[in-house]
Amino acid sequence: MSARVTAVETVPVSVPTETAYETSLSIAAGEAESYDHVLVRVETDAGVTGLGEVAPLPTWPHGLTQSAVVDLIDDRLAPRLEGESLDRIPRLVDRAERALSGEPFPLCGVDVALHDALGKTRDLPVYDLLGGAPDGEATIDLHYSIGIRPPAEVRDLAVEARDDGFTAFKVKVGGPDFPAEREAIAAIADAVPDARIRVDANQGWSAAEAVRRVPLLDADADGLVLVEQPVPYDDIAGLRRVREATGVPVLADEACFSPADVATLAARDACDLVNIKLAKTGGLTRARDVATVADAHGLPCFMGSMLELGVGTAANAHFAASSPAVSYPTGVLNVHAASTLIDAPEAWSPAGDRFTVPDAPGLGVTLDDAAVERYRTD
Ligand SMILES: [Mg+2]
Repeated sequence: MSARVTAVETVPVSVPTETAYETSLSIAAGEAESYDHVLVRVETDAGVTGLGEVAPLPTWPHGLTQSAVVDLIDDRLAPRLEGESLDRIPRLVDRAERALSGEPFPLCGVDVALHDALGKTRDLPVYDLLGGAPDGEATIDLHYSIGIRPPAEVRDLAVEARDDGFTAFKVKVGGPDFPAEREAIAAIADAVPDARIRVDANQGWSAAEAVRRVPLLDADADGLVLVEQPVPYDDIAGLRRVREATGVPVLADEACFSPADVATLAARDACDLVNIKLAKTGGLTRARDVATVADAHGLPCFMGSMLELGVGTAANAHFAASSPAVSYPTGVLNVHAASTLIDAPEAWSPAGDRFTVPDAPGLGVTLDDAAVERYRTD
């Protein structure tokens, strides 16, 4: 007798940021950063509760407000999941997808919560539900993320990261002060001689600007690993222009959500690799589909995050640990929030450039109920 879903509940939370992580998107939006996320609980008749999390990010393509996510899950998804078997998650995701009009964010929350519940009923970590770690060890390589900051601060962060064993850096660019961004990249290359630097412009440039600027940053970095989403999400021709004009590999992020997006980008020779985020794919089920389509087109994958709190971070880490297609270091662990709302957060904090995903059943996280009460907004 398989476990069935008895209820799907949403808990909106707002957690302040402790350290800023500025991107060209956040600067353009001019908003104080906080984590206005939505926790999802899937209750079952097996006595286990599955947890999911949605990071709505309204400034993103397909982004929604927190209340829109809550409404879509409560009104559209919950009634279609209650009474259904956990053994049929891919079919439940198909059904949930048909009840929406292409919004991946709410779908992600319920897909992850269903997987957490299934893992707990089967006594398996989510990475094993997804097929298991490719090399038998559920470890992921980490990069060090640096937001748009003054060059002197960037140098200090790079030195700190180097001393913690990091050599892979992801640096935000595409903001209003390009000369300062050049200095910041040069400072990392100077402070960490074996640094592997990638930059993420978060759509901050036109194609013409990117064609001028990427080669300059490439020289400052002594060779960029890649440039992420240099141009607006809907400028597929611009992505191709940047990769052809600069020779620097292009990673599609805001341009790439679904398996169909990967196929389109590949058909138009618009990118060299794709950024998988559970929020964009609509959860773990579709993330595997995206990885499969990317692999079929010879496009390696990077596992990104939407700065999720503890539950969403765990889901990202389980996927990264289980997917042979994810071959670049990732920055999924959240180091910027005042609380990640889970018990024992230190088990999910980076200590050096390699992280072992805990092998407890499901996602392996439990909510810190006191913290959730403090930050819930309903
Ligand atoms: Mg990005």
